[in-house]
Amino acid sequence: MNIHEYQAKAILRAYGAPVSDGRVVLKAEEAKTAAGELDGPLWVVKAQIHAGGRGKGHFKEAEAGEKGGVRLARSVEEAEAHAKQMLGRTLVTVQTGPAGKQVNRIYIEDGSDIARELYLALLIDRKTSRISFVASTEGGMSIEDVAHDTPEKILTFTIDPATGLSDFHGRRVAFALGLEGNQVKQCVALVKTLYKAFVEKDMEMLEINPLIVTPDGNLKCLDAKMGFDGNAIYRHADIAALRDETEEDPKELAASKFDLNYIALDGEIGCMVNGAGLAMATMDIIKLYGAEPANFLDVGGGATKEKVTEAFKIITSDPNVKGILVNIFGGIMRCDVIAEGVIAAVKEVGLTVPLVVRLEGTNVELGKEIINKSGLNVIAGDNLADAAQKIVKAVKG
Ligand code: GDP
Ligand code: MG
Repeated sequence: MNIHEYQAKAILRAYGAPVSDGRVVLKAEEAKTAAGELDGPLWVVKAQIHAGGRGKGHFKEAEAGEKGGVRLARSVEEAEAHAKQMLGRTLVTVQTGPAGKQVNRIYIEDGSDIARELYLALLIDRKTSRISFVASTEGGMSIEDVAHDTPEKILTFTIDPATGLSDFHGRRVAFALGLEGNQVKQCVALVKTLYKAFVEKDMEMLEINPLIVTPDGNLKCLDAKMGFDGNAIYRHADIAALRDETEEDPKELAASKFDLNYIALDGEIGCMVNGAGLAMATMDIIKLYGAEPANFLDVGGGATKEKVTEAFKIITSDPNVKGILVNIFGGIMRCDVIAEGVIAAVKEVGLTVPLVVRLEGTNVELGKEIINKSGLNVIAGDNLADAAQKIVKAVKG
């Protein structure tokens, strides 16, 4: 689960990390008062969306020369004007994709002067099952680009959970970032603080880009991106409360309410499958026969008729879906439950695209009978390859 920059900075501030003072505004009318509460003489007006690259992004239907989603202002009035201009518009960045994201919240921050922009991040390294640090002198730009063009400018190392974090880790980061004197001390403290917050809050990712050195030689977190482990959210009510559902794919949101493992993709064939492995194999075989999956969906082992109905409704609500492939190998899942769920959903929402069903396993005869008697126009698939070929043919002709 991801949160907004202003929320991430509130968490950092609570842990004692250096961040600027700021105010979040939801309505343009609030912007002037909010900016007035900050010291100035420089303000930063920042669009709050769950995506990075806002500074270099652009708004849809922007006027010529109009700035992106991070703007400097020299007066309260200018800050207000920027906030007004951004709220409600759609911001497109390298991370949002071409559709962009609507800006519903603005963060107005006390502006900082910058001497250097650095990069510091913590993330879960799946290979070593440890928390890893990533640090670079090349802050303010995409770390993917730095990794591609100048990988030698990136330091990464992991923390052994048995011995934990020590001061030398902080010094290692400090020297890689070219910090000196008191900045080294600040860096050691910051590394400790970030690590503590990361572990205590079950984060998955914490990226400070840029971490800046101010002209008077102090470190400050100028941007913050935080992601949390969804499986641990249940033990962090404070984090769960920060969820902004408007930032999530509505189909994925609906799926999460019914405990379905669903991920929206951009192909044309909707998939309803049980088991993550079979779901991945189904996606692969659809691609093999020349089409693209519209989603990943594992309805799970003990899915009820209601859950299957909901899953089918989510698949059909996707306007990109031009055909549906139901691929069930009934082990714990029973084929008759799937059949009943599909029919209940079709009765509710109708079926305007071809549907191929491949059932195998527990209660398969009963499942097939239910579908045959339903009068639905279903194409039966005999096995994985046959079913995939049939749905691709039905969609592509
Ligand atoms: P992102 O584009 O979504 O990553 O948003 P950031 O918060 O990282 O801002 C983008 C860039 O705007 C930064 O790399 C800085 O160069 C600039 N910026 C952000 N805040 C300030 C500030 O307080 N003062 C100045 N001078 N520049 C800022
Ligand atoms: Mg940034």
